[in-house]
Amino acid sequence: MQTVIEGAHVLTVAGDEYPDGHVVVVGNRIAAVGAGPAPEWARTGRVVDGRGCLLTPGLVNCHHHLYQWVTRGLAVDHTLFEWLTTLYPVWAGIDEDAVRTGASGALATLALSGCTTSTDHHYVFPREGGDVLGAEIRAAAEVGLRFHPTRGSMDLGRSAGGLPPDHVVEDRDTILAACADAVARWHDPSFDSMLRIALAPCSPFSVTGELMRESAQLARELGVRLHTHLAETDDEEEFCAERFGCTPTQYVADLGWTGDDVWFAHTVHLDDAAVKTIGATGTGVSHCPTSNGRLGAGIARVRDLVDAGARVGLGVDGAASNEGTSLLEDVKLATLFARARGGPRAMSVRQAVELGTLGGARVLGREDEIGTIETGKLADLALWRLDDLGHAGIADPVAALVLGAAPPLELLLVNGRPVVEHDRVVTVDTEAVAARCASVQRDLVAKAG
Ligand code: ZN
Repeated sequence: MQTVIEGAHVLTVAGDEYPDGHVVVVGNRIAAVGAGPAPEWARTGRVVDGRGCLLTPGLVNCHHHLYQWVTRGLAVDHTLFEWLTTLYPVWAGIDEDAVRTGASGALATLALSGCTTSTDHHYVFPREGGDVLGAEIRAAAEVGLRFHPTRGSMDLGRSAGGLPPDHVVEDRDTILAACADAVARWHDPSFDSMLRIALAPCSPFSVTGELMRESAQLARELGVRLHTHLAETDDEEEFCAERFGCTPTQYVADLGWTGDDVWFAHTVHLDDAAVKTIGATGTGVSHCPTSNGRLGAGIARVRDLVDAGARVGLGVDGAASNEGTSLLEDVKLATLFARARGGPRAMSVRQAVELGTLGGARVLGREDEIGTIETGKLADLALWRLDDLGHAGIADPVAALVLGAAPPLELLLVNGRPVVEHDRVVTVDTEAVAARCASVQRDLVAKAG
């Protein structure tokens, strides 16, 4: 299978930019990239006319809760802790079917926003729910995105001083056995892997310190990555101060949770010491500006984290706190939030695209495979149409993409395969998925009473 894209403005995110360039894809790899038309040898397969378009690496989503696609639009004016306590009883009703349906809706929507690789943080495992992690893995294979689901967990219920109700938490032995099983069943460490597993206890207020420590040990034995929520809100800061006598970052650092195999979601509430710790250890961060705005959590110190040496990518977060689930919108908001906080030079439009592509690849430890357009890397590419009403005439195509309205997605290739063509998902029937999602959401809300 061979695809040639030519005539496009190519932003490689590897240092080079070609205003009239080409990219050649052979199989699942990028075989050539450069200025001008494609070489003659490459013109045997499909040739895509990229004139009027910007070609970027596919976007990498570093934080999500896919199942929340079927619990959107609830608790819309609440703080994180109020929102969580409203939603836990709804989430307690999920099963394989709900998760597969929600994941299809969320992943197809992500694809339409230019996303080629997504993580997921799944931490609700109802006893009668069936194989919910397997269900979302099947959905990702159908939609066709590169997928990094995490086996999440909660073991600190309300009766033990945690936030979630007791019936949605699991015991530690069950969790650790399920984590090992998930890695054995699904984790593929190979170069062009479409599926890698990580371990992800949920947050300081829903997980015990023992589970955090043992999850880190297990992940390092198995050679997989670690993920959790950290320092999202004032409430969490107060919870850690009262219960542990320290900041959230100090708390998890003492439990072994720093290093280049760890990434945190949010990190909004960081003091200088926390920024230094995360940066010096090369720990990863998923900045989730839309969700942080939706829940009024605050604005993360992204510029400071990048300057300190942290690996920073972007995440949409669960659809219950980001109903739009557009990763491109988070590229824009990352730019606006950084400038609102740190002034006009705090983030350039090209730095924002880098966070959404190469930054995310670094967070997931895949910077040798994805995140830039370079010969030998995997063919995860987004071709954006910029000659339409909303964008024609904007001099800088990268500014048009980041600061303009979300443009039509002409083509999205994942591992060399088309997932979106002419702004439509070609792998699943999105109308059927939408109808199914609405029906599942009605049932879940009715069940929660
Ligand atoms: Zn989250």
